[in-house]
Amino acid sequence: MTSNLLNRQVAFAARPDGEPTAETFFIREVPVTALESGQILCRNLMVSVDPYLRLKMYDRESYTPPLEFGETIPGRSVAQVVESAAPEFKAGDLVAIQGGWQEYEIVKARHAERVDPALANPVSWLGALGMTGFTAYGGLLSVGQPKEGETVVVSAAAGAVGLLVGQVARQVGCRVVGIAGGSEKCARVVSEFGFDACVDYRAADFEQQLTEATPEGVDVYFDNVGGEIAAAVTRRLNTFARVAICGLISQYNGQSDSDPKAMEEYLRWILVRRLTIRGFIVYDLHKNHPEFTEVMSGWLREGKVREVFQRYDGFEQIVPAFLGMLSGKNFGKSIVRIAEPS
Ligand code: NDP
Repeated sequence: MTSNLLNRQVAFAARPDGEPTAETFFIREVPVTALESGQILCRNLMVSVDPYLRLKMYDRESYTPPLEFGETIPGRSVAQVVESAAPEFKAGDLVAIQGGWQEYEIVKARHAERVDPALANPVSWLGALGMTGFTAYGGLLSVGQPKEGETVVVSAAAGAVGLLVGQVARQVGCRVVGIAGGSEKCARVVSEFGFDACVDYRAADFEQQLTEATPEGVDVYFDNVGGEIAAAVTRRLNTFARVAICGLISQYNGQSDSDPKAMEEYLRWILVRRLTIRGFIVYDLHKNHPEFTEVMSGWLREGKVREVFQRYDGFEQIVPAFLGMLSGKNFGKSIVRIAEPS
Protein backbone atom coordinates (compact mmCIF):
# COMPACT_ATOMS: atom_id res chain seq x y z
CA MET A 1 0.00 0.00 0.00
CA THR A 2 2.74 2.45 0.97
CA SER A 3 4.54 1.96 -2.35
CA ASN A 4 2.04 4.22 -4.16
CA LEU A 5 2.29 7.14 -1.78
CA LEU A 6 4.30 10.27 -2.42
CA ASN A 7 5.39 12.41 0.50
CA ARG A 8 5.80 16.18 0.21
CA GLN A 9 8.42 17.55 2.61
CA VAL A 10 9.78 20.96 3.61
CA ALA A 11 13.56 20.65 3.85
CA PHE A 12 16.42 22.91 4.94
CA ALA A 13 18.10 24.77 2.06
CA ALA A 14 20.45 27.41 3.51
CA ARG A 15 21.54 28.90 6.82
CA PRO A 16 19.90 32.34 7.06
CA ASP A 17 21.92 35.43 7.81
CA GLY A 18 19.48 37.22 10.10
CA GLU A 19 15.80 36.51 9.57
CA PRO A 20 14.92 33.29 7.74
CA THR A 21 13.07 33.69 4.44
CA ALA A 22 11.24 31.43 2.01
CA GLU A 23 14.67 30.66 0.48
CA THR A 24 15.78 29.05 3.74
CA PHE A 25 13.62 26.08 2.73
CA PHE A 26 12.75 23.97 -0.28
CA ILE A 27 9.93 21.56 -0.99
CA ARG A 28 10.47 18.11 -2.47
CA GLU A 29 8.52 14.94 -3.04
CA VAL A 30 9.81 11.50 -2.09
CA PRO A 31 8.18 8.04 -2.12
CA VAL A 32 6.95 6.67 1.20
CA THR A 33 9.10 3.71 2.20
CA ALA A 34 7.85 0.29 3.39
CA LEU A 35 6.87 -0.29 7.01
CA GLU A 36 8.98 -2.44 9.31
CA SER A 37 7.73 -4.42 12.27
CA GLY A 38 6.90 -2.18 15.25
CA GLN A 39 6.36 0.89 13.07
CA ILE A 40 3.31 2.89 12.04
CA LEU A 41 2.79 4.99 8.93
CA CYS A 42 1.18 8.29 9.90
CA ARG A 43 -0.44 11.00 7.81
CA ASN A 44 0.18 14.40 9.37
CA LEU A 45 -3.07 16.30 9.90
CA MET A 46 -1.65 19.38 11.60
CA VAL A 47 1.90 20.45 12.18
CA SER A 48 3.47 22.77 14.69
CA VAL A 49 5.89 25.62 13.89
CA ASP A 50 8.22 26.48 16.77
CA PRO A 51 10.90 29.08 17.55
CA TYR A 52 13.60 26.51 18.48
CA LEU A 53 13.84 25.66 14.77
CA ARG A 54 15.53 29.02 14.24
CA LEU A 55 18.22 27.98 16.74
CA LYS A 56 18.76 24.77 14.79
CA MET A 57 19.66 26.84 11.71
CA TYR A 58 22.97 27.91 13.26
CA ASP A 59 26.03 25.72 12.90
CA ARG A 60 27.02 25.90 16.55
CA GLU A 61 26.63 23.97 19.77
CA SER A 62 23.17 24.07 21.29
CA TYR A 63 20.80 21.79 23.19
CA THR A 64 19.59 20.51 19.84
CA PRO A 65 21.87 19.59 16.90
CA PRO A 66 22.14 21.94 13.90
CA LEU A 67 19.98 21.20 10.88
CA GLU A 68 21.83 19.49 8.06
CA PHE A 69 21.28 20.76 4.52
CA GLY A 70 18.48 18.75 2.96
CA GLU A 71 17.14 17.59 6.31
CA THR A 72 13.34 17.55 6.63
CA ILE A 73 12.35 20.22 9.14
CA PRO A 74 11.40 18.48 12.39
CA GLY A 75 8.46 19.29 14.63
CA ARG A 76 5.51 17.89 16.51
CA SER A 77 2.37 16.93 14.64
CA VAL A 78 -1.02 15.39 15.20
CA ALA A 79 -1.42 12.58 12.70
CA GLN A 80 -3.66 9.70 11.72
CA VAL A 81 -2.36 6.16 11.45
CA VAL A 82 -2.63 5.00 7.83
CA GLU A 83 -1.05 1.59 8.26
CA SER A 84 0.23 -0.22 11.31
CA ALA A 85 2.84 -2.93 11.80
CA ALA A 86 2.54 -2.63 15.57
CA PRO A 87 -0.09 -4.05 17.93
CA GLU A 88 -0.52 -0.76 19.83
CA PHE A 89 -2.22 1.12 16.97
CA LYS A 90 -4.58 0.44 14.10
CA ALA A 91 -5.37 2.41 10.94
CA GLY A 92 -7.51 5.44 11.79
CA ASP A 93 -6.07 6.06 15.27
CA LEU A 94 -4.99 9.59 16.09
CA VAL A 95 -1.47 10.09 17.45
CA ALA A 96 0.90 12.90 18.43
CA ILE A 97 4.34 12.28 16.96
CA GLN A 98 7.60 13.87 15.95
CA GLY A 99 6.16 14.09 12.46
CA GLY A 100 8.07 16.99 10.91
CA TRP A 101 7.04 19.36 8.14
CA GLN A 102 5.85 16.68 5.74
CA GLU A 103 2.73 14.83 4.73
CA TYR A 104 3.69 11.38 5.98
CA GLU A 105 6.07 9.99 8.56
CA ILE A 106 6.93 6.48 9.69
CA VAL A 107 7.63 6.24 13.43
CA LYS A 108 8.14 3.48 15.94
CA ALA A 109 4.82 2.86 17.69
CA ARG A 110 6.45 3.33 21.09
CA HIS A 111 7.39 6.88 20.08
CA ALA A 112 3.77 7.78 19.28
CA GLU A 113 1.43 9.24 21.89
CA ARG A 114 -2.23 8.31 21.61
CA VAL A 115 -4.54 11.28 21.03
CA ASP A 116 -7.83 10.74 22.82
CA PRO A 117 -10.55 13.01 21.40
CA ALA A 118 -12.68 12.23 24.48
CA LEU A 119 -10.08 14.00 26.64
CA ALA A 120 -9.66 17.16 24.54
CA ASN A 121 -9.75 18.48 21.00
CA PRO A 122 -6.87 16.76 19.09
CA VAL A 123 -5.32 20.17 18.30
CA SER A 124 -4.61 20.52 22.04
CA TRP A 125 -1.81 17.95 21.66
CA LEU A 126 0.08 20.72 19.85
CA GLY A 127 -1.07 23.28 22.41
CA ALA A 128 -1.95 22.99 26.09
CA LEU A 129 -1.56 19.19 26.26
CA GLY A 130 1.59 19.07 24.15
CA MET A 131 5.14 20.37 24.32
CA THR A 132 3.87 23.95 24.53
CA GLY A 133 1.64 23.32 27.52
CA PHE A 134 4.23 21.25 29.32
CA THR A 135 6.86 23.94 28.81
CA ALA A 136 4.54 26.47 30.46
CA TYR A 137 3.35 24.19 33.25
CA GLY A 138 6.59 22.40 34.08
CA GLY A 139 8.79 25.44 33.56
CA LEU A 140 6.67 27.69 35.73
CA LEU A 141 6.01 25.22 38.55
CA SER A 142 9.39 23.44 38.69
CA VAL A 143 11.72 26.30 37.85
CA GLY A 144 9.76 29.45 38.71
CA GLN A 145 8.22 27.90 41.85
CA PRO A 146 5.51 30.57 42.23
CA LYS A 147 3.63 30.91 45.49
CA GLU A 148 0.15 32.30 46.11
CA GLY A 149 0.16 36.09 46.25
CA GLU A 150 3.45 36.50 44.39
CA THR A 151 3.88 38.50 41.19
CA VAL A 152 4.76 36.54 38.05
CA VAL A 153 5.90 38.29 34.87
CA VAL A 154 6.01 36.45 31.54
CA SER A 155 7.33 37.76 28.22
CA ALA A 156 5.99 36.80 24.77
CA ALA A 157 2.77 36.71 26.78
CA ALA A 158 0.47 36.63 23.74
CA GLY A 159 2.28 33.62 22.32
CA ALA A 160 1.74 29.91 22.74
CA VAL A 161 3.79 29.31 25.88
CA GLY A 162 3.26 32.76 27.40
CA LEU A 163 -0.55 32.67 27.41
CA LEU A 164 -0.46 29.33 29.22
CA VAL A 165 2.19 30.44 31.74
CA GLY A 166 -0.01 33.33 32.80
CA GLN A 167 -3.07 31.13 33.18
CA VAL A 168 -1.21 28.48 35.18
CA ALA A 169 0.15 31.24 37.44
CA ARG A 170 -3.42 32.43 37.98
CA GLN A 171 -4.35 28.92 39.11
CA VAL A 172 -1.59 29.18 41.73
CA GLY A 173 -3.10 32.48 42.92
CA CYS A 174 -0.44 34.85 41.65
CA ARG A 175 -0.67 38.37 40.28
CA VAL A 176 0.20 37.93 36.59
CA VAL A 177 1.75 40.54 34.34
CA GLY A 178 2.42 39.84 30.67
CA ILE A 179 4.77 41.59 28.27
CA ALA A 180 3.86 41.55 24.57
CA GLY A 181 4.32 43.49 21.35
CA GLY A 182 1.53 45.99 20.67
CA SER A 183 -1.42 47.42 22.56
CA GLU A 184 -3.94 45.19 20.79
CA LYS A 185 -2.23 41.99 21.88
CA CYS A 186 -1.84 43.33 25.41
CA ALA A 187 -5.54 44.20 25.63
CA ARG A 188 -6.56 40.67 24.59
CA VAL A 189 -4.14 39.06 27.04
CA VAL A 190 -5.89 40.90 29.88
CA SER A 191 -9.52 40.78 28.72
CA GLU A 192 -9.63 37.21 27.36
CA PHE A 193 -7.02 35.38 29.42
CA GLY A 194 -7.32 36.88 32.89
CA PHE A 195 -3.89 38.48 33.22
CA ASP A 196 -3.88 41.34 35.75
CA ALA A 197 -1.91 43.55 33.38
CA CYS A 198 0.04 43.37 30.14
CA VAL A 199 2.72 45.84 29.10
CA ASP A 200 3.64 46.68 25.50
CA TYR A 201 7.42 46.41 25.15
CA ARG A 202 7.32 48.57 22.02
CA ALA A 203 5.88 51.55 23.93
CA ALA A 204 8.30 54.41 24.53
CA ASP A 205 7.56 54.32 28.27
CA PHE A 206 7.73 50.50 28.54
CA GLU A 207 9.88 50.47 31.64
CA GLN A 208 7.66 53.00 33.39
CA GLN A 209 4.57 50.94 32.55
CA LEU A 210 6.29 47.79 33.81
CA THR A 211 7.06 49.50 37.12
CA GLU A 212 3.43 50.61 37.47
CA ALA A 213 2.17 47.09 36.66
CA THR A 214 4.43 45.52 39.31
CA PRO A 215 3.97 47.77 42.36
CA GLU A 216 5.31 45.08 44.69
CA GLY A 217 8.18 44.07 42.42
CA VAL A 218 8.51 40.73 40.62
CA ASP A 219 8.96 37.35 42.32
CA VAL A 220 9.05 35.11 39.25
CA TYR A 221 10.10 36.03 35.74
CA PHE A 222 9.35 33.48 33.02
CA ASP A 223 11.66 34.67 30.27
CA ASN A 224 10.78 33.83 26.68
CA VAL A 225 12.68 36.64 25.00
CA GLY A 226 15.93 37.76 26.73
CA GLY A 227 17.66 40.97 25.62
CA GLU A 228 16.50 44.41 26.70
CA ILE A 229 13.13 43.17 27.93
CA ALA A 230 14.82 40.73 30.31
CA ALA A 231 17.14 43.50 31.49
CA ALA A 232 14.17 45.72 32.31
CA VAL A 233 12.42 42.93 34.27
CA THR A 234 15.65 42.11 36.11
CA ARG A 235 15.64 45.62 37.55
CA ARG A 236 12.18 44.90 39.04
CA LEU A 237 13.09 41.55 40.64
CA ASN A 238 12.59 41.18 44.39
CA THR A 239 15.10 39.64 46.75
CA PHE A 240 15.15 35.83 46.29
CA ALA A 241 13.18 36.08 43.02
CA ARG A 242 13.37 33.20 40.54
CA VAL A 243 13.98 33.51 36.81
CA ALA A 244 13.02 30.61 34.52
CA ILE A 245 14.90 31.08 31.27
CA CYS A 246 12.73 29.34 28.71
CA GLY A 247 13.74 31.11 25.50
CA LEU A 248 15.63 34.11 24.12
CA ILE A 249 13.66 34.79 20.98
CA SER A 250 14.76 38.44 20.75
CA GLN A 251 18.27 37.11 20.02
CA TYR A 252 17.44 34.21 17.69
CA ASN A 253 18.11 36.11 14.46
CA GLY A 254 21.59 37.04 15.63
CA GLN A 255 20.74 40.37 17.25
CA SER A 256 23.42 41.28 19.78
CA ASP A 257 23.23 43.26 22.96
CA SER A 258 25.17 46.42 22.17
CA ASP A 259 25.80 47.37 25.80
CA PRO A 260 29.13 45.83 26.90
CA LYS A 261 28.24 46.59 30.51
CA ALA A 262 25.04 44.53 30.39
CA MET A 263 26.59 41.30 31.71
CA GLU A 264 28.32 43.06 34.60
CA GLU A 265 25.06 44.73 35.53
CA TYR A 266 23.20 41.41 35.32
CA LEU A 267 25.69 39.67 37.60
CA ARG A 268 25.52 42.57 40.03
CA TRP A 269 21.73 42.17 40.28
CA ILE A 270 22.06 38.42 40.81
CA LEU A 271 24.22 39.16 43.83
CA VAL A 272 22.36 42.17 45.19
CA ARG A 273 18.94 40.50 44.92
CA ARG A 274 20.15 36.92 45.60
CA LEU A 275 18.42 35.69 42.47
CA THR A 276 17.98 32.11 41.33
CA ILE A 277 18.28 31.94 37.56
CA ARG A 278 17.80 28.64 35.77
CA GLY A 279 17.52 27.74 32.13
CA PHE A 280 15.47 24.69 31.29
CA ILE A 281 14.53 22.57 28.31
CA VAL A 282 11.10 21.03 28.34
CA TYR A 283 12.24 17.40 28.24
CA ASP A 284 14.33 17.90 31.42
CA LEU A 285 11.13 18.27 33.42
CA HIS A 286 8.91 15.38 32.34
CA LYS A 287 9.64 13.18 35.33
CA ASN A 288 8.68 16.03 37.70
CA HIS A 289 5.07 16.20 36.56
CA PRO A 290 3.34 12.87 35.92
CA GLU A 291 0.06 14.64 36.78
CA PHE A 292 0.36 17.08 33.88
CA THR A 293 -2.09 15.63 31.33
CA GLU A 294 -4.79 14.99 33.93
CA VAL A 295 -4.47 18.43 35.52
CA MET A 296 -4.22 20.40 32.28
CA SER A 297 -7.06 18.54 30.53
CA GLY A 298 -9.19 19.15 33.65
CA TRP A 299 -8.43 22.87 33.55
CA LEU A 300 -9.34 22.97 29.85
CA ARG A 301 -12.65 21.17 30.44
CA GLU A 302 -13.52 23.42 33.39
CA GLY A 303 -12.64 26.54 31.41
CA LYS A 304 -9.93 27.51 33.92
CA VAL A 305 -7.38 27.52 31.11
CA ARG A 306 -8.19 28.58 27.56
CA GLU A 307 -6.10 28.09 24.49
CA VAL A 308 -6.12 29.94 21.24
CA PHE A 309 -4.60 28.94 17.92
CA GLN A 310 -3.24 30.94 15.05
CA ARG A 311 -4.46 28.59 12.35
CA TYR A 312 -3.13 28.26 8.82
CA ASP A 313 -4.51 25.96 6.17
CA GLY A 314 -2.55 24.00 3.58
CA PHE A 315 0.92 22.50 3.24
CA GLU A 316 2.21 25.62 1.43
CA GLN A 317 1.37 27.67 4.53
CA ILE A 318 3.91 25.91 6.79
CA VAL A 319 6.80 28.22 5.96
CA PRO A 320 4.69 31.44 6.06
CA ALA A 321 3.28 30.31 9.42
CA PHE A 322 6.79 29.84 10.79
CA LEU A 323 8.05 33.18 9.48
CA GLY A 324 4.91 34.92 10.76
CA MET A 325 5.31 33.41 14.22
CA LEU A 326 8.95 34.54 14.47
CA SER A 327 7.93 38.10 13.63
CA GLY A 328 5.00 38.18 16.06
CA LYS A 329 2.08 37.87 13.62
CA ASN A 330 0.56 35.16 15.80
CA PHE A 331 -1.73 35.27 18.79
CA GLY A 332 -1.48 31.96 20.64
CA LYS A 333 -0.12 28.71 19.27
CA SER A 334 0.68 28.62 15.53
CA ILE A 335 -0.43 25.46 13.77
CA VAL A 336 -0.91 24.46 10.14
CA ARG A 337 -3.67 22.06 9.10
CA ILE A 338 -2.43 20.07 6.12
CA ALA A 339 -4.96 17.23 5.84
CA GLU A 340 -8.37 16.19 7.13
CA PRO A 341 -8.84 12.95 9.06
CA SER A 342 -10.40 10.21 6.97
P1 NDP B 1 5.23 32.21 20.47
O1 NDP B 1 3.90 31.68 20.13
O2 NDP B 1 5.39 32.98 21.75
O3 NDP B 1 5.74 33.07 19.23
C1 NDP B 1 6.90 33.80 19.32
C2 NDP B 1 6.61 35.23 19.83
O4 NDP B 1 7.84 35.84 20.17
C3 NDP B 1 6.01 36.15 18.80
O5 NDP B 1 4.61 36.02 18.79
C4 NDP B 1 6.46 37.52 19.25
O6 NDP B 1 5.45 38.13 20.04
C5 NDP B 1 7.66 37.23 20.15
N1 NDP B 1 8.87 37.88 19.63
C6 NDP B 1 9.45 37.71 18.42
N2 NDP B 1 10.54 38.49 18.30
C7 NDP B 1 10.63 39.18 19.47
C8 NDP B 1 11.54 40.16 19.95
N3 NDP B 1 12.58 40.59 19.21
N4 NDP B 1 11.34 40.66 21.19
C9 NDP B 1 10.30 40.23 21.94
N5 NDP B 1 9.40 39.32 21.54
C10 NDP B 1 9.57 38.78 20.31
O7 NDP B 1 6.29 31.03 20.52
P2 NDP B 1 6.35 29.86 21.60
O8 NDP B 1 5.35 30.11 22.65
O9 NDP B 1 6.35 28.59 20.90
O10 NDP B 1 7.81 30.08 22.23
C11 NDP B 1 8.04 31.14 23.15
C12 NDP B 1 9.47 31.00 23.69
O11 NDP B 1 9.57 29.77 24.40
C13 NDP B 1 10.54 30.98 22.61
O12 NDP B 1 11.66 31.69 23.07
C14 NDP B 1 10.88 29.50 22.51
O13 NDP B 1 12.17 29.28 22.02
C15 NDP B 1 10.70 29.08 23.94
N6 NDP B 1 10.47 27.66 24.14
C16 NDP B 1 11.34 27.00 24.96
C17 NDP B 1 11.16 25.69 25.27
C18 NDP B 1 12.09 25.04 26.23
O14 NDP B 1 12.06 23.82 26.36
N7 NDP B 1 12.94 25.80 26.92
C19 NDP B 1 10.06 24.91 24.66
C20 NDP B 1 9.15 25.71 23.85
C21 NDP B 1 9.37 27.04 23.59
P3 NDP B 1 5.31 39.74 20.17
O15 NDP B 1 4.33 40.16 19.15
O16 NDP B 1 4.83 39.89 21.57
O17 NDP B 1 6.66 40.33 19.93
